[in-house]
Amino acid sequence: MTAPGALNSAVGSLYVVATPIGNLDDISARAMKVLREVSLIAAEDTRHSLRLLQHFGITTPLAACHEHNERDEGSRFIARLLAGEDVALISDAGTPLISDPGYHLVRQARAAGISVVPVPGACALIAALSAAGLPSDRFIFEGFLPAKAVGRRARLELLKEEPRTLIFYEAPHRILECLQDLETVFGAQRPALLARELTKTFETLKGLPLSELRGFVEADANQQRGECVVLVAGWTAPENDDAVGAEAMRVLDLLLQEMPLKRAAALAAEITGVRKNLLYQVALDRQKDA
Ligand code: SAM
Repeated sequence: MTAPGALNSAVGSLYVVATPIGNLDDISARAMKVLREVSLIAAEDTRHSLRLLQHFGITTPLAACHEHNERDEGSRFIARLLAGEDVALISDAGTPLISDPGYHLVRQARAAGISVVPVPGACALIAALSAAGLPSDRFIFEGFLPAKAVGRRARLELLKEEPRTLIFYEAPHRILECLQDLETVFGAQRPALLARELTKTFETLKGLPLSELRGFVEADANQQRGECVVLVAGWTAPENDDAVGAEAMRVLDLLLQEMPLKRAAALAAEITGVRKNLLYQVALDRQKDA
């Protein structure tokens, strides 16, 4: 196989191949061709991937490449690539490296001058975002939140005033506590969406403010099953109320140390998006209290 932009045809290419996240029809014609033609498929779970390959009548040999052996075993794959064999990397579902193994192998391959070729396809976060109706021009993907409540809340606190759409992966047995914490930290009214079982029989996309979404999931045990992605609208500066967020206060305080009050309020408004008059008033109050 000749990879686009291959650096050296005597050396093989590493193909990073996306596989379906549920509906097997989502595999691309190119993915099937690559999986058929490579010498070896490095897979997160060989037994799981064997079922997928059997479904498509693909008989290419499989070798394990998971988070526990990826660093050490990577050199085995690199040796075969350097010897001229093409290798495909797949994970259990969706795009490898996206909350899945593969990062170390890709790094090692690139460091060895091996051409790494993406074969794009399904990815749960992109599928969810594409149908969520939340701003999609800028977004951040946070992967899985910490499993323990303390860590999860601490991470969410850091993201409280993030203006871009936020995307999280979550395990079904933690979805309810995750939504509870999102509601506590981001507020009951923040728009959100739960995308569950994408591309599968029980696919559900439910968009509601956080408190209602939490209530919806709490009331129906079926919503606490299956695979899920949670999307939350980014923070927007309050328009009509008098709340100035912690980040805006921090910016304002820093600027107040360096410049006159009016200029500091104007600059803080520009940086944070909070109304200038509101920041001006807050700065006046702070000076009075000082
Ligand atoms: N590499 C995958 C991708 O490209 O999306 C993600 C792998 S990660 C280990 C698995 C997580 O992805 C699940 O816990 C869930 O949050 C999300 N996910 C995967 N498939 C999904 C689906 N069909 N519907 C909703 N979420 C899914």
